[in-house]
Amino acid sequence: MDRQGIGKQTDAQMGERTFQIVVVGQGAAGLAAALSAAEEVRRKKLSVSVTLIDKASVDDAGGNTRWTPAYMRMAAPDRVEPSFVHDMLEATQFKGDESYFADLAREAPATVQWIAAHGVEFHQPTYYLAKGPPRIQPVGGGASIFRELTCAAEATGVTLRHSCAAEGLVSQDGAIRGVRLADGEIVPANAVVLACGGFQGNAAMMREHFGAGGDVVPLLAPRARHNTGDGIAMARALGADASGEWDGMHSEPVDPRSRNQAPVMLLYPYGIVVDRAGQRFFDEGAGLVHETWEWFSRQIHFGVEGREAYAVLDRRALDIPDWQRATRSEVPPFESDTLDGLAKLIGVDASGLAATVAAYNAACTGDPQKFDATRCDGLAAAGSLQPLKSNWARAIAEPPFLCWPLIGAIAYTFGGLATDVRARVLKDGVPIPGLYAAGEITGHFYGTAPNAVSVLRAFVFGRIAGREAAGYLGS
Ligand SMILES: Cc1cc2nc3c(=O)[nH]c(=O)nc-3n(C[C@H](O)[C@H](O)[C@H](O)COP(=O)(O)OP(=O)(O)OC[C@H]3O[C@@H](n4cnc5c(N)ncnc54)[C@H](O)[C@@H]3O)c2cc1C
Repeated sequence: MDRQGIGKQTDAQMGERTFQIVVVGQGAAGLAAALSAAEEVRRKKLSVSVTLIDKASVDDAGGNTRWTPAYMRMAAPDRVEPSFVHDMLEATQFKGDESYFADLAREAPATVQWIAAHGVEFHQPTYYLAKGPPRIQPVGGGASIFRELTCAAEATGVTLRHSCAAEGLVSQDGAIRGVRLADGEIVPANAVVLACGGFQGNAAMMREHFGAGGDVVPLLAPRARHNTGDGIAMARALGADASGEWDGMHSEPVDPRSRNQAPVMLLYPYGIVVDRAGQRFFDEGAGLVHETWEWFSRQIHFGVEGREAYAVLDRRALDIPDWQRATRSEVPPFESDTLDGLAKLIGVDASGLAATVAAYNAACTGDPQKFDATRCDGLAAAGSLQPLKSNWARAIAEPPFLCWPLIGAIAYTFGGLATDVRARVLKDGVPIPGLYAAGEITGHFYGTAPNAVSVLRAFVFGRIAGREAAGYLGS
């Protein structure tokens, strides 16, 4: 409990019955919360003001949301797949909260409709190469939702403040009274929505939860450096429960040479991946790319010398229809007519690479005509090969030989706050009055990140949080 700095201002407002909602963070969750709160306030003619604060400057705010393509796991804008809840539980290794995912499924269509009503168009995008679960996408990605919802929030009366880092919650007699900023200012608040992301930008927390090397995992989106777990610490200081897997993260392999936005490189399942010694270290074809990228990129960062690996393919990679869809790197692969030449170009042990490719090619005994990049094609290498290659096992034999270097980069962390289906932050399983949270800051993910769900859940529960906060003050 921190009483410092509260008092006159808050009490005066309480006397006039002008309440304040403060939303912390201008990503998907925060924007949805601020806008839905302001709409609810307007609809019910409540005497409540809504302020959204962000730690970053106006140009730098928006966190991961402003950077993401924002794929959303929906069969169409008006429905999720019938298996949605089961799929979520499976991804979380059945540790996830079924009611949370059931509400996510139920609220998703109305939330997408609500976003669309604010000027965002949705379409069904092509994915990388392998077909994953169905998805929709806002045209223009997360940046377009960020832009439109920011405009809508301002037009509905939300006050936006930038370069305001929330550092603490002020509470008195069990009621939320304000948000303390890093510069000591107290922003009065009777309800607070925490929507300020995970802790991927906090080197100390990353090291604490992921061990050595956790503090130097590159960020997929540079703006996520502001996501330093502040909201998690603020709520935990009030006794909030934790949720999600604290050593869980979503990460993806990227081409370190590229200057593009999040330059993922996802052709690796169709060849082999080696370390500097030229050795393979995992089953590149264990599943569709969105089923292997998370653990694979973690392994590059935490398990491979130099934290860099090398995807090696041959000329036929460039015959895969639309292969360019599998990489957002603008830099062409290293290329050589001989494996020896390629090894020299990429700084990999040449004899190690030659032996690895020879063993791999000898195990590629299946019919190469079966090769199909769009699905698990069952073209497995012979079982004697270690590690296995379960799909897309085609010999690397036709020059030129190609290589893309890969590093693992983090999108977001899984560990966070426990919330219920009304986005209320829980303490000993009971909601803390006036305190809500949504988006990455909430836990709920275990095992593997469910594909194309992080943005969707940020919007759905952000919208719920805003509505609930307004309802709480209006009741
Ligand atoms: C490259 C990339 C691709 C992705 N693709 C997808 C995808 O296709 N589908 C999907 O579902 N997910 C995807 N994700 C994940 C998804 O984008 C995020 O998980 C989601 O946008 C998080 O939204 P958020 O509102 O919780 O946090 P953010 O969007 O990160 O916003 C957090 C905000 O809080 C602010 N903040 C932080 N600390 C404070 C503080 N102390 N005080 C005030 N403000 C603070 C930050 O400045 C930021 O503006 C991707 C992520 C990346 C990086």
